[in-house]
Amino acid sequence: MTPAFEKLQKQLKQLPGLGYRSAERIALHLLVEKPAKLPALVEAMQEAAKSVRRCERCGNIAEGERCALCADEKRDGSVVCVVEHVPDLVALERSGAYRGVYHVLHGKLSPIQGVAPEDLNLQALLDRVERGEANELILALSNDVEGEATCHYITQHLGPRGVKVTRIGFGLPSGGGVLYADSVTLKSALEGRRDYR
Ligand SMILES: [Zn+2]
Repeated sequence: MTPAFEKLQKQLKQLPGLGYRSAERIALHLLVEKPAKLPALVEAMQEAAKSVRRCERCGNIAEGERCALCADEKRDGSVVCVVEHVPDLVALERSGAYRGVYHVLHGKLSPIQGVAPEDLNLQALLDRVERGEANELILALSNDVEGEATCHYITQHLGPRGVKVTRIGFGLPSGGGVLYADSVTLKSALEGRRDYR
């Protein structure tokens, strides 16, 4: 292989879900087998890198300061559903069972994997509550040790302002998250949320 090829392969290998073999296959595909496709891909990546960012309020992906959900005045801004990742939000949206807004943490607390509160979009959530934006937090975090620790951290660090905190759970498989649940399960999980403090 050539130095430039190996450099690209090394970058690809660092992407989630790609190992050495798949990185090699993609690099070969782009450079040797279908090089005509490459300029469009590079252009799309450059355009996305310039315009896509985190919503300043909730952490969802956005192309302005706020995401489409935060900008939608028909949604109930006083109910905030807290999720780990953007695909969790997408799954909940697909269920059609939720009309509030969201807060994306971009992960969950994990001392073992070295994920501390400052690595997550947690302070912004506490600030939203502090500013009085939310009457209810729905914790839609994984049903595992890290999800539990993250729920605990949030409730421990909420200021004195009164806010109802519920957690979904009903129907979700143990150890599972929002992303892999089907729409019916998510709907019942939302409806079956229970008080969390
Ligand atoms: Zn937003």
